[in-house]
This record gives sequence, structure tokens and C-alpha cells, in this order.
Amino acid sequence: MEFRYEANQSQASDARRAEILANPGFGQYFTDHMVTIDWTADLEGQAKAFEAGEYLKMVGDWSDARVEPYGPLSLSPAAAVLHYAQEIFEGLKAYRHEDGSIWTFRPKANAARMNRSAHRMAMPQLPEDVFVQALEELMARDSAWVPNGEGQSLYLRPFMIATEEFLGVRPARNFSFHVIASPAGNYFGAELKPVSIWVSRDFARAGEGGTGAAKFGGNYAASLAAQLQGASRGHDQVVFLDRSPEESFEELGGMNVFFVTKDNKLITPKLTGTILEGVTRDSILQLGAEQGLDVEERRITFNEWKDGVASGDIQEVFACGTAAVITPIGQVADREEVYTTPSADFPVANALRNRLIGIQTGVDEDTHGWLHRLA
Ligand SMILES: *Cc1c(COP(=O)(O)O)cnc(C)c1O
Repeated sequence: MEFRYEANQSQASDARRAEILANPGFGQYFTDHMVTIDWTADLEGQAKAFEAGEYLKMVGDWSDARVEPYGPLSLSPAAAVLHYAQEIFEGLKAYRHEDGSIWTFRPKANAARMNRSAHRMAMPQLPEDVFVQALEELMARDSAWVPNGEGQSLYLRPFMIATEEFLGVRPARNFSFHVIASPAGNYFGAELKPVSIWVSRDFARAGEGGTGAAKFGGNYAASLAAQLQGASRGHDQVVFLDRSPEESFEELGGMNVFFVTKDNKLITPKLTGTILEGVTRDSILQLGAEQGLDVEERRITFNEWKDGVASGDIQEVFACGTAAVITPIGQVADREEVYTTPSADFPVANALRNRLIGIQTGVDEDTHGWLHRLA
């Protein structure tokens, strides 16, 4: 796809950018440019697909792909996204390797997942190669924003919104796709300290047949009350259980979860439709198998976990996702009960984390062909 370029006339100075990159935090500062691509429905084509039974096929065209100055979007107050929340997003990172080249990790997996989210939310598909090209086009302009400090990266945030000015309830006929980028330090601070999580019993994040498997902004909105409840009791994150009588573990508000047993099993909840299919999760399953762990994707109940940490059968618990990579979970609080993870130093979580970061930053060999060069 052809992209046009409109330069930002008030780009950050080299000095200002250096100041930001010295201590970027997470999600606070943005690069000089962003990608925008517009989508318009082809109503005739859509009607035909609908009659043919392909009722979720969004027929239309992407147009006016551009790299433009980062800045506010111009949206009608009646834009559908503001009322009915047709919004999906992705998250991946760009890493600067030692030779200065810039790489990202498994971008096609994010592109494919965005299209699965789009399908669930009745939004248009973006061709996977255009998704990847959009990242390349942005990095062709803003690569100076990729930091090179320890644990630093440039977080890339592709997203798609319904822009049509219409208050009727149906899928919008206009959408826009964007990519913005934000320099990132270590998500939970410099040292890898185990976090404490709160079991959400009053608030659910996802349900069967719902939107839990889509990377959909509304899932995050639904998780915030639980997050606040946990935070008010001093916990860092929240874990959601399914609502079955067995109470199976699902995931945190924005990270998947893993368990390591003393007999070398690496267990993660299987994908049931209510859990987000993390790219990090999938990568850890593959790396875990290579490191000689017995990997299992299955239901794991709250009781199994509780008994496991009490008896020592479960040694480590950790969460994973692009933003924070791997975060050890030191304790889980279920109302007044607090359960402590046996391991103090999380050797398996650390080994997996080092291997994953090693690949991403170009220090270890990329034996899976997971890296994609952006600039
Ligand atoms: C994005 C996300 C994850 C992690 O996915 P990655 O692809 O590994 O970054 C996990 N859970 C939820 C709810 C998410 O939105």
C-alpha cells in the first residue's frame, strides 16, 4: 500500500527527546508521527455478503494511508466509538539492537489477532502485510525514538475505531486504523520484584460468548473496578476466575498467567474463549518446551492452585504480556486469605524471561524467526 507523508513541523528537539528517553516511564510520551488509514464500507458489496450468509464480513476499502504528525484526532461527537465502543487495539514493541537496527517481535501474530478481534467486534479486516507495513512506515520516520537503555523499548500501539457519525445501533460504516508509539522503560520499575494480586470476586471481566478473547478496550474498562478494589487493599494486579463452580483461573486484567510445578511442569490456562491469546504466552509455551519443561494448557482451578502453593507442588506463579514481559507473582489474596508462592527467586520465570528478552534484543539467536526488522 502507498503511504503519503506529512512531516511534523514541530518535532521534539534532539535535546528534548534525549531527556524523555532517559526516563520514559510507560505510555506518557509519544513520538512525532502516527499512522492513519481510513476505511469506508462498500454498501452494495456488504449487502451481497450479508445475503450470502457472510453476515460478519465487512466489505469496504482502506484508503489514504499516511504517516502524519502525532496529534489529536478530529471526531464527530456522534462518532460510533464514543457511544458503542467499537474499538480494538494491539500492543508490541520495537527494540534497538546493538548495531543500531530496529526490530519487532512476531508482528504477524499481532496482525492476525487484531483481525480476530475485528471479526468479533464487527469491524473490518486489515491485511496483515499492511499492518506490518504501517509499523515500518512509522519507524522510517520516528526510529530516533527507539531507546537503547537496559530494558527499554518503543511500545507500538496499533488501534482501530469506528468513526462514523451515526447514533443508530449497527456496525459503523467508517473506521480508522492508527499506530502511535511511546518510549517505554521497565513496566513495573527497574527491579524484577514479585507482585501481589487480588482475586476479583465482585467483578467479572469476561464471560462465555463475550468479548474476553478480543483485544477490545471495553474489556479493560470492565476490569478497572476490580483493579481499584485490589489496589485499595494494597495489591498490584487483579486475577479473574471464570464463573463456573470449579473456579478456573483465567488471567489478569492484561496479562496471561503461568504456574511452574516442582516436577517441572509449566501450566497455563487453556484458551476457552474468555482468555486473551497472548503472543508472549504462546512464545513462553514454545521456549518452555525447549528448556525441557513439560508444558500443559488446561483448566487449572483455584483450589488446585491454593493446595499447590500450600504443599509446594506449585513452586512459581508468574504473569506475562508484551508490556511487562514476565512478572513473578509473589502472593495472591482472596478476600482475607493470603497465599504465598513458595519460590523466592523464581528461577524458571527468570530463565524464560532472559531467553525471551535475549531474542528480542538480539543478544540470543532468534532460532524461531520471530524477529522482523523495522528499520
Ligand atoms: C494484550 C493482553 C495480554 C497479553 O498479550 P501479549 O500478546 O502477550 O502482549 C493478555 N491479556 C489481555 C487481557 C490482554 O489484553
